[in-house]
Amino acid sequence: MATTASVLDRYAEYEATIGIEVHVQLMTKSKIFCACDNAPCQEPNRNICDVCSGYPGPLPVLNKQVVDYAILAGLATNCSISPRSYFDRKHYFYPDLPKNYQITQQMEPICHEGFVPIRLDDGQIKKVRLMRIHMEEDAGKNLHSPDGDESFVDLNRTGTPLLEIVSYPDMCNADEAKAYLKALRLLVRYLGICSGNMEEGAFRADTNVSVRKKGAAELGTRCELKNINSFKFIGDAIEYELERQIGLLERGDRVSQETRLWNTRTRETAAMRSKEEVADYRYFEDPDLPLIEINDEWIGRVRKLLPELPHERFNRLCSECGLEPSEAEILVEDVELANYFEQARSTTKSRNLINWVLRDVMAFLKEEKIELIELKMQPDQLATLVDMVDGGVINNRAAQEVFKTVAQTGKDPRGVVKEVGLEQISSVDELEKIVSEVMSENSSQVEAYRQTRNERMFGFFVGAVMKKTGGRANPTVIKELIKKHLQ
Ligand code: ZN
Ligand code: MN
Repeated sequence: MATTASVLDRYAEYEATIGIEVHVQLMTKSKIFCACDNAPCQEPNRNICDVCSGYPGPLPVLNKQVVDYAILAGLATNCSISPRSYFDRKHYFYPDLPKNYQITQQMEPICHEGFVPIRLDDGQIKKVRLMRIHMEEDAGKNLHSPDGDESFVDLNRTGTPLLEIVSYPDMCNADEAKAYLKALRLLVRYLGICSGNMEEGAFRADTNVSVRKKGAAELGTRCELKNINSFKFIGDAIEYELERQIGLLERGDRVSQETRLWNTRTRETAAMRSKEEVADYRYFEDPDLPLIEINDEWIGRVRKLLPELPHERFNRLCSECGLEPSEAEILVEDVELANYFEQARSTTKSRNLINWVLRDVMAFLKEEKIELIELKMQPDQLATLVDMVDGGVINNRAAQEVFKTVAQTGKDPRGVVKEVGLEQISSVDELEKIVSEVMSENSSQVEAYRQTRNERMFGFFVGAVMKKTGGRANPTVIKELIKKHLQ
């Protein structure tokens, strides 16, 4: 990631402190406290029952899969797992919250004190510390008619399980905040617990930003930037907020603690509400839900489900497969492409393989507007193709042709080479004959070249020989032969 110009460059005496709370929607089969289907649903108030729509009487029952996913996230972020934790009620009124309280974990979260490693643009690894991860339920959605006359409440989302992942204020600029969010999003996708879809609100970040003079003992007053749904907008909003807060302090004003919204049209943040204090919510332990007791055996069972994590795969791709960090980074962010590469690599150790994957495979998918899964060329077929080029069986030009055919048809690359007659001609005797012919057919050009030694003209002879061989000549061999003839 390139370092972008920041308002902090202009105010060297200030420093920024950024902490982020992320809400991750879990892809469990059912909701957190009832058996309702936990899947997006177009028809409003379809996936609801008396528990998640707040009827009096029915009791919540905790979905064990949510606890498993919370433990998995905790292990993947180096957290301690609490042997005993419980749920609290957080009280507030909003039409999309039918019980008038949200069930969450305030006093004793399931995970605490971990970290997420992020890679900065200079290649350094920084650990962003996590304060806690807790489980909670999502609220429903309020929908407003375009003319503003009517409002509706859709409770399909009510009771969707969430993990709230809270970092320490360890980030000191917009680039670090974005790197952290990207790393965390990739992590939950690797774990298979969240789609990471920001536009649909499956991964939502609340960013707390404050500034202070360097060396000041206390943190500045923070503002919370709520639910911004793209990395770019989050970066822009942080920059805007730093400028606004520094401006206030420079004028001798104070920053007031509040929640602010980012307006993508005006590219400004605007105050939404003053931030509530913890005490305002009148938290207390939910008497309807039992204590959550997690022993080592449970943790051990979940630990077995841990996949290779993004930063681990990154390190392995660099050390074992000899990839450059920039190459490994592209693969790590695209799990299917990384798998494709690794499957091909189990057949060939060619250093050229990665170029074929990142250049030719990606370009082909883009051109044809298809997904990797639809590509007819199997990983081992690409490996065969790369080996044929490396071994001099076909030259690069023919390889492009073979690639296209195999990508479109899934035919065996060796078969395609035979069928179309693309084998490279490397035989010196055979090529010598053709080079001689070209020389005698173009005697005036030969004379001209001997006088000027013009590079372009040399290319003319290479082209002429290639043409006679249907593009199959080994370029290294013919260049040597032509040089000899032109002396
Ligand atoms: Zn329900
Ligand atoms: Mn929350």
